[in-house]
Parts: sequence; C-alpha cells; structure tokens
Amino acid sequence: MKRKNTLIYTLSITLVFLAQQLAAQEVQPDTQKNAENKTSTVWDLGDLYPDIASWNSAREEIAARINTLDQCKGKLGSSADKLAECMTLINNTYKDLLHLYVYSFLAKDTDLGNSENRERASVAQTLLTQLGEATSYVDPELVAIDEKKLNRFLKNSNALKDYDFSILNTRRQAKHILSPKEERIIAASYDALSTASNVYEVLTNAEMPWPEITLSNGETVRLDASGYGKSRTSESREDRRKVFKTFWEVFQNYRQTLAITLEGQVKADVLVAKLRGFDSSLQRALDNDNIPEEVYRALVNTVNDKIDSLHRLISLRQRMLKIDETEYFDIYPSVISLDKSYTLEETKELTIKALQPLGKEYIDTFTEAVNKNWMHVYPSPGKRSGAYVMGAAYDTHPYVLLNFDNTLESVSTYAHEWGHAMHSLMSNEHQPFSKADYATFIAEIASTANEVLLFDYLRKNAKNDQERLYYLFKELSQIRGTFFRQTQFAEFELAIHEQVENGGALSGDKLNSMYSDILKRYYGHDKGIMNIDELYTVEWAYIPHFYRNFYVYQYATSISAAYFLTDKILSEGEPAQENFLNILRAGGSDYPYQILLDAGVDMASPEVYEAIIKRMNRLMDEVETILDKQR
Ligand SMILES: [Zn+2]
Repeated sequence: MKRKNTLIYTLSITLVFLAQQLAAQEVQPDTQKNAENKTSTVWDLGDLYPDIASWNSAREEIAARINTLDQCKGKLGSSADKLAECMTLINNTYKDLLHLYVYSFLAKDTDLGNSENRERASVAQTLLTQLGEATSYVDPELVAIDEKKLNRFLKNSNALKDYDFSILNTRRQAKHILSPKEERIIAASYDALSTASNVYEVLTNAEMPWPEITLSNGETVRLDASGYGKSRTSESREDRRKVFKTFWEVFQNYRQTLAITLEGQVKADVLVAKLRGFDSSLQRALDNDNIPEEVYRALVNTVNDKIDSLHRLISLRQRMLKIDETEYFDIYPSVISLDKSYTLEETKELTIKALQPLGKEYIDTFTEAVNKNWMHVYPSPGKRSGAYVMGAAYDTHPYVLLNFDNTLESVSTYAHEWGHAMHSLMSNEHQPFSKADYATFIAEIASTANEVLLFDYLRKNAKNDQERLYYLFKELSQIRGTFFRQTQFAEFELAIHEQVENGGALSGDKLNSMYSDILKRYYGHDKGIMNIDELYTVEWAYIPHFYRNFYVYQYATSISAAYFLTDKILSEGEPAQENFLNILRAGGSDYPYQILLDAGVDMASPEVYEAIIKRMNRLMDEVETILDKQR
C-alpha cells in the first residue's frame, strides 16, 4: 500500500534528465564500505537510452508509428492472421512508448525542480493520449466479431495466444459498454461528475484553515494532514488529546460541506453503475478485474467475527502504555522504542537472509538484482519523497526509488519495494508484454510477503526481549493499520453507497453516526475496550480514498493473502514456495482471483482472513509471555 503500483504511466510527466549528470551530482552518504559488490546508490537510466539524442529519435519513430495504426481500422475481424498482426503492431507500439515514458518519468522524479526538458516530457505524455485515441476502434471491433468466428481464430492461430486473455476480457465487459452515442454522453459528463472530488481535494489540501498548536516540548505545529500525522504519535498523552481535539474540530466545522462532496462522489459512482447496467456500484467496481463480490463480503464478515483480536491488541497496548483507559488518540504512539540504525549494505544482507524461505530461484534472482544499478537510494534535493517501483519498461528491468534514511522503516520499505520489483521481474520473464501487467488486487502480495518474512527473521534473531517486543509491536501495528482499519473503511464505503442506492441521503450528521457505529464496534467502545469521543467520528471526512470507488479493500485483501502464503511457506516449504512464485510468474495472464485460486488461495473464503488473525494471536501470545516474565 501507500507506495506505488508497478505501472504508473497515467501520472503526469514533466522532464527528462541525463542519468550521467545525475550520477555525477549525487552525494553518496553511504561511504562506509568499498567492497567490490557494493550496491550502487544511483540508478543507471543508460539501460533505457544511452543519451537524450537516442530518446529523441525513439520519440520521433514512435510518433510516426502511432500515425500508421489506423491501417488496422475495420480489419480486426477479417482473419486470424490480420487480427494477430494488428494486435502485435499495437502492443509493440504501446510497449515502446512505455519505455520512452519511463525514462522521462524516472529522470523527473530525481530532480523535480528542473524544467528544461518539460516540453520533451509532455510530448511523451501526449503520445500516450494519442495512442489511446488512435486505437479507440479496437475494443468495439473486438466485441463485434462473431463468437464462433473468434473461437475459430483463437483455436487455429498460435500468433493470437499472447492476446487471447485481453480479447476475451474485453468481450466479457462488453455488456456494460453502451451505444456510441450513450458513451459520448458519459464521456462528456465526466468533468461534471468529478466536481465533488475536485472540491474535496482543494478544500482539504489548500483552503481549510489549519490551526497551530503548541506541544508540551514548546514546539509549534501547524495541524494540517501532515502535521497531524506527525504529532499524533507524541509520547505525551496531553499532546495527543490536544492534537485530536483541535484537528477534528476543524473537520466538524466543515462536516456539512464535506458531506455534500462525499455524497456527490457516491451519487456519481451510483449513477455510472446504473447507466452501465450494473446492479450496484460495488458490482461495477469489482467487475474491472472480475473479482467476485464474495471476496469483499468474506473480508468484512471475517473481520467482524474476529474483532476480539483487535480488542486484545488495544488492551496489550494499554498495558504497555500504563494507562487505565484507552482513548482513540492512544493508537498511534509507539509503545516501545529501539535505538538501532542500518546501513544500505546491512539492509541488503539482512533482507537476503530473511527471504531465504522463498527458495533458491527467488534468492538468486533477488541477489543478482539488488547488486545492479537499478536503485535510486538516498534523499537528495529536488527528489520525490516516498518510495516506489517502476516496472513498466518491459524490455529492460524495474527501477526502484527509495529515500533510505537508515531507520528500520527504511529497511522494511527496501524489502517491500523489492517485492514489487521481483513481481515485475518474474512476470516480465514468464509472460509476453500483453500479459505481464498484473492487477492491483495482487500487486501488494510479494511486497507484503517480503515485509512479513523480514519481521519474522528480525524477531527470531532479536538479541533480547526488548528488541523482540519492538518488532512484535511494529508488526502488530501494521496489521491494525492495513488489515483492520482498511476493512473498517471498506465496510463504511459499502454502507454509504448502499444508503444512496436505497434512496437515502448523506448529511454530515448521518455520516458521523454511520461512521461512529462502525468505529465503535471495531474498537470495542461499548465493551469498555476503548473510549471513542463523538468529536472524532468525523474521521470519514479525512479519508481521501473514499473518492476512489472501492479501492481500500485491496490493502486488506493483499496483506491477508501475503500472510496466508508466508504461513504456508514457513510450515510447508517447497510446494508452498512454488505456489507463491506461480502467482508472480502469472503476471496478468488471467483474472487475479483465478491466479490466486490456482495457487491455493481462495480469496472468497474466510480461511485466508483467519490466517492473519491466527498469526496476530501468535504474536500477541509472544508479547504476553515476555510481559509476564518481566513482571
Ligand atoms: Zn507496495
């Protein structure tokens, strides 16, 4: 989660910068070691293009090729050979254009302030739009081919094998594509339907009057989203109380406006689902990747059945924090600290050791990859914050952007991002370009599995109980934030969509009360586990993901699948390893639910979600054993 998907070509691009210049300008803080296998800390974009001149000639050649794509218009159904020829032509153009795009995207992200090549980079962006327009005839033509004829094409043509899945997937979705006239009306309403989320973005990011508060250490903080994120972890309880009170009061003051924007978004989701002939907005959202609705419901139901485990975690934290009653503002601070830092080399060695359970093939590929110049490691002026993997340059290799700062968070981010990179590497190796790009639904499995194994290794090799407790609570916090909290959001998101679908309205007070019901149930307010002040029940207004049409549940499903698979790998070894690797090798060659099912993971069954709960309970048993010993 929080980091990036493999293909991020829809984001805007601005400029291109020479890799050679970058390499020369970078300061390399990791001066500790000079072993010959020392990891390079600046990626080499020369693997994509040797210089700007080559990028430019590639751009001209691709632009010319896009203009020839209309030669296929009206001919896709004429013969199997013609269909294969056209699909190859279009796919190769897209592949080469992504290659072009990736170079400019990566260069931009390490020097955001440089505007010299802005024009060139926006050309790459424009080419992507042009490719979309130039191939807009493809889907309608694929849908129009007679079924018997198409089956004959697919059966008799080897050249079509690379495209069978995307052709069948396009046809599967055809019943929700309307007439050209109706499609034009929907396309034309798109801007108007986005108004609610645009207003939300501007209001919450720029125009809401964020107050300043002074913390107990004398520091004055502006409580916008990022100030809130930092100061809510304060060790002082009075600070946390003050932070929550001040921050949520602002949202309460704007709750009617924010209810109108959220209701506007939900109404837009419901309207488009209805226009396209879906039974519900949930059905429409899941249809894109053909995810059965049972997946969503199995997740929400299992979490509700097992909510006691979250209550147990809250009580354990209460014990660690030595407080008599837990308030909602007590969930963010660390309950234990550890003064430890890691160099990049140590991180690499640690990760290689931790990932051993994934087997020789994975480790060999991983070890070779992390020693290449594929990573941009350290923060530098003008570099984009956060971390991601860009895996869209199919013929080259993934690139990894980090902002490594020697903390344990950096180590787990390293393991996480390299999970994405491994998924892209294995998918690109085993699948043709047309089947390599994998769905968001499975995109976080390898990354999370890497993190799970890292924490497993750290915990098992901790030098003392203090260190072990630290890792235990880190992992437990991650489970709370990714599994329980995202499922809680998923449940709320479904409830507000159903409210509108059933003719109901969403006022600020109604949203507060719906959110309050769910929040209090999750955190055991009525059972005396945690006290939830009514003021904080406006939290729904702070979550931008509710404007992304049923996206958040995938954080929870991914972490569940990762835990389910790593548990099996740790207990069963090789057969489970092979299942895990098969998911990565499969890329986007099938529907993500089916890819997981083939690997023995049924995301519509409670057992996947029970696995993470069982794991959590084992971790909490370990915490209790240590705490009882210390008494
Ligand atoms: Zn990720």
